[in-house]
Amino acid sequence: MKEELVPGEWKPIGASVPKLAGEYFLVTGSGKYFRNVTIRPEDSFCIIELDGKGENYRVCWGLVNGGRPTSELPSHLMNHEVKMLATNGRHRVIYHAHPANTIALTFVLPLTDEAFTRELWEMATECPVVFPDGVGVVPWMVPSGRDIAVATSELMKKYDVAIWAHHGIFASGEDFDLTFGLMHTVEKSAEILVKVRSMTAQKRLFEKD
Ligand SMILES: [Zn+2]
Repeated sequence: MKEELVPGEWKPIGASVPKLAGEYFLVTGSGKYFRNVTIRPEDSFCIIELDGKGENYRVCWGLVNGGRPTSELPSHLMNHEVKMLATNGRHRVIYHAHPANTIALTFVLPLTDEAFTRELWEMATECPVVFPDGVGVVPWMVPSGRDIAVATSELMKKYDVAIWAHHGIFASGEDFDLTFGLMHTVEKSAEILVKVRSMTAQKRLFEKD
């Protein structure tokens, strides 16, 4: 196969991320599957370059069979910008997924940072250790645009996890293991809460003797 190294044309990101001007990111393609990333990386994701203003991107490599970066590019990049500043560049991964138990809870719990943080911390002892700052909650908003990106990146100033009501999660971390691990910890905690609530309305909390 002939390697395609000529960058594509500049396209608007849909948000402004001036602090990321000139940076490169590895991005999954819209409608692509994580399962195929290791099998057909050149088809499943791409490397994008941002322009000097942080307002446009172009594909430098990948997506050899066509397509475009994830439709959540504005949220991913605005989160990257916030986290780059907040962690002095340590956080390099922004991961978005649609985990079922966490989404289910957004139909049950009050859509507040406090309610979700409290319930998720309570379900497993590791949770306050894995996400000590808690989690933020974005009410239902139209996905893929600038507004939800702004709302999410605002929460990312405080948290490493932002739950999108009725949609999914954004998680931020230093590398893939830590970020996927964070996402799995939140989702496992949500699954325990779903199981507990399915068995009883009354949680039995820790009691000494
Ligand atoms: Zn999504």
